[in-house]
Amino acid sequence: MVASACLPRVGTAQDSKTRLILLGTGGGPRPRRSSSAPAQVIVVNNAAYVVDCGDGVARQLVLAGVPLAQLRHVFVTHQHSDHNADYGNLLLLAWTAGLRTRVDAWGPPPLEQMTTLFFEMNSYDIRTRIADEDRVPLRPLIHVHELIDGGLVVEDDSVRVTAALVDHPPVVPAFAYRFDTPDRSIVVSGDTKPSEALIELARGADVLVHEALYDAAAVDRLVAAVPNAARLKQSIVSHHTTAEEAGRSAQRAGVGTLVLSHLIPAEDSLVTEQMWIDAARTHFAGTVVVGKDLLEI
Ligand SMILES: [Zn+2]
Ligand SMILES: [Zn+2]
Repeated sequence: MVASACLPRVGTAQDSKTRLILLGTGGGPRPRRSSSAPAQVIVVNNAAYVVDCGDGVARQLVLAGVPLAQLRHVFVTHQHSDHNADYGNLLLLAWTAGLRTRVDAWGPPPLEQMTTLFFEMNSYDIRTRIADEDRVPLRPLIHVHELIDGGLVVEDDSVRVTAALVDHPPVVPAFAYRFDTPDRSIVVSGDTKPSEALIELARGADVLVHEALYDAAAVDRLVAAVPNAARLKQSIVSHHTTAEEAGRSAQRAGVGTLVLSHLIPAEDSLVTEQMWIDAARTHFAGTVVVGKDLLEI
């Protein structure tokens, strides 16, 4: 068990109030041994802002030491299952863990329909627990906001959240999010090809968490065992950003720290941590961090 106090820390904001924890750093929906599906949490003033809800996100929050009852906002970058498979489960399981306060959920359509259908699917359990365990009704706590364009998403006393439309065909819209807190600015790319809109959003940020693909040969190894290998490879290579290109975007945006996450491939002994770093450093002069589950930055 990893206690939050023991999590490795990197970067320059060790004593700041804003915490960024990578919850899941492997790209793609296929469950893996060594990395969870994409998710990260930003914690400010005891409120958790979760970005993406890959498989296992609630469990990863527990392992990171973030109380589920602190869940305040959920941001979905786009509607691919490696980013939304546990969206509903996060809401439900946070409620079972003691959540009694409002949660706002933000993301592309059909987020509203997904939420409605999820609660319908789980209505028996929710109804039973309200009657049997004296819990507050769950559905009224959840406020869904569908996003179709970039710009200001939400602003409160702790955080200003803005979004940019990124380029991840055929999934439209797909968003990157920027979080400006009193002490830090953090950008999460979501999934995207190299994107001018992302570079603008990330301009001058302290930390850019960017998705990263290693190279075509690594993708060949990744898809080797699946029946739809050729089409899947074409999809992966054309909808994502290489680590080298992520470094180029980070350099152009002038960010301080580039965090490579949503790694493709996530488990490949032929692609070492140093190789990821070297690829990103081809064009980026700042700090490069290779994402690992439960790493705090
Ligand atoms: Zn993805
Ligand atoms: Zn995607």
